Amino acid sequence: MTSTNQLAVPFNKGFLTGDETGYMHQAMTGGPMTGDGPFTKRASALLTELVGAPHALLTTSCTHALDMTAMLLDLGPGDEVILPSFTFCSTANAYVLRGAVPVFVDIRPDTLNLDERQVEAAVTDRTKAIVVVHYAGVGVEMDAINAIAERHGLVVIEDNAHGLGGTYRGRNLGSIGAMATQSFHETKNVQCGEGGALVFNDPRYFERAEIIREKGTNRGQFFRGMVDKYRWIDIGSSYLPSDLLAAFLTAQLEHFADIQRRRHHVWSSYDARLAAWAAEHGVVRPTVPADREQPAHLYYLLLPDLDSRQSMLKHLLGHGVLGTFHYQPLHLAPAGEKFGRVGPEGCPVTEDVADRLLRLPLYAGMTDDDIDLVINAVETFRPRE
Ligand SMILES: *Cc1c(COP(=O)(O)O)cnc(C)c1O
Repeated sequence: MTSTNQLAVPFNKGFLTGDETGYMHQAMTGGPMTGDGPFTKRASALLTELVGAPHALLTTSCTHALDMTAMLLDLGPGDEVILPSFTFCSTANAYVLRGAVPVFVDIRPDTLNLDERQVEAAVTDRTKAIVVVHYAGVGVEMDAINAIAERHGLVVIEDNAHGLGGTYRGRNLGSIGAMATQSFHETKNVQCGEGGALVFNDPRYFERAEIIREKGTNRGQFFRGMVDKYRWIDIGSSYLPSDLLAAFLTAQLEHFADIQRRRHHVWSSYDARLAAWAAEHGVVRPTVPADREQPAHLYYLLLPDLDSRQSMLKHLLGHGVLGTFHYQPLHLAPAGEKFGRVGPEGCPVTEDVADRLLRLPLYAGMTDDDIDLVINAVETFRPRE
């Protein structure tokens, strides 16, 4: 791994809005720094407003929010969960930890999202849930997914780590499934170093989720005066972030519009200015269907083959630009083979795309000079020579 200080343009740089330090100082001096303090409430309210969901709980990560969905659905040995192989391992790990089996279904070659046309063939009488990932914040075919879920009595979870600020047919990503998970990892649009949230559209899960997040206790109800002592009443763990992190996150969420304006500028510059080069060299740019908006989470190019992707990564590095590949297929990973199963139609598109996809640097603090440098580095690469 090349250290970022040798690079002209690193892959990612955490963006600060300016209010983080002041808010963290308030959290340090004002009140208890444990979770569920004033900043936790502020950040949660900002998030529910942004997503348009009735409830949200901050968590220590998106990974932990996914773990909580598996507990809330009471998943266990014998149960199956349908999800894409083209995602981060946390999407599958959450269910494996409860003893359930992830069933990997392929992605669409255009949006790189779970292929809704292959989902129904993977449903068995043990299937309990479908977990979708809005790759690059481009919405999954949610109407079709919800129709399948309804026919078979399945719960739909959105892993919305990429999708904050994206829409599908006029609806916000994260507001469509029964629950949605958010990530505030430093590489995501809104960040606090490490953090996440669980968003509830089906309010039935909310009360129990509060208990699971507080080590299986009803401490939340106790602090609100609803019970006279708090006790261990369910399984759970420590998934509640400190109010210090919530203070940082509050600053980020308050400046969401500014962060997004900056990120969209980078995304649109890449997409417009690389169009001619891409067409000339058989490189494919992201597909965003007309009925959805993407939130400029990541920008990728699909190269003609693995060799050209690898040589382009080297070429970019030679120009001081760190690009990356994305998502080694879960069904081919050692743990995926051990704990998961591949759906009836296999995952050929996932395997192909994993070889050919290249992500360009994209962060809110990128200057026009940084953008020019990346575009120049890309345009001087010739995939077939
Ligand atoms: C980043 C990411 C996660 C994990 O998020 P953490 O907050 O780091 O746990 C899960 N799923 C997807 C699709 C992600 O991109």
